[in-house]
Amino acid sequence: MRTQIVAGNWKMNKNLEETEALLSELSAKLPDTHAEVVVAPTFVNLAGAQRNLQSSRIKVAAQNMHFAEDGAYTGEISADMLLNIHVDTVILGHSERRSYFGEDDELLSKKVKAALNKDMQIIFCFGEELEERKSGNHFAVVESQLKNALFDLDAGSWSNIVLAYEPVWAIGTGETASPEQAQEMHAFIRKTITEAYNTEIADGVSILYGGSVKPANAEEIFSKPDVDGGLIGGASLKADDFIAIVRAI
Ligand code: 13P
Repeated sequence: MRTQIVAGNWKMNKNLEETEALLSELSAKLPDTHAEVVVAPTFVNLAGAQRNLQSSRIKVAAQNMHFAEDGAYTGEISADMLLNIHVDTVILGHSERRSYFGEDDELLSKKVKAALNKDMQIIFCFGEELEERKSGNHFAVVESQLKNALFDLDAGSWSNIVLAYEPVWAIGTGETASPEQAQEMHAFIRKTITEAYNTEIADGVSILYGGSVKPANAEEIFSKPDVDGGLIGGASLKADDFIAIVRAI
């Protein structure tokens, strides 16, 4: 059975005190669950979060990472810096990184390889924009995002990868892909991976859905056979909402 995961991407939210308060509440209220629970606070609060959660089952992830080992990259953070504070999971390819910071498939391919080089776990995000869905290009867009950033990896690398399908039109908009739309795309993703690799890899990789997941819709989305959990934005900022979503899996 695939690992089920509920991950909270906090984006550029929560200062130090707010981070500590939310983590304490999450730790106290976390239900017994078979799912892996992950939170991704901002860089400045990562080390503190990691310390805070040492004895908790909640894992800490970074929201981004640079591909270089070290050097003159003002404002950037390396894999070794994350590992040094015991953070071994990183979100790469988020649509906000792609659209606001110009991250393209070529750059993401480098980041993926840099993270794998250090044996890090990657939550790799991708998904189509509204126009691409309206014009019926969503499958082709998703396929090319996967192909360009991931399909030159060797088969062994896939055990370090979790995929997160996040249709851009559903992020922070309140509009969710229907459970059927999510299932349809997740099944397509698995078929694409089967064609590029094999069934074992396709059936083994966890594929999360992201985009306006909330307590009210989580259970139905997670009930779909190819949806292995969620990457949660807004609703991960409130302990009760996030916990309710964890319960839904
Ligand atoms: P929302 O849940 O706020 O739509 O954000 C989803 C997301 O971008 C998670 O990475």
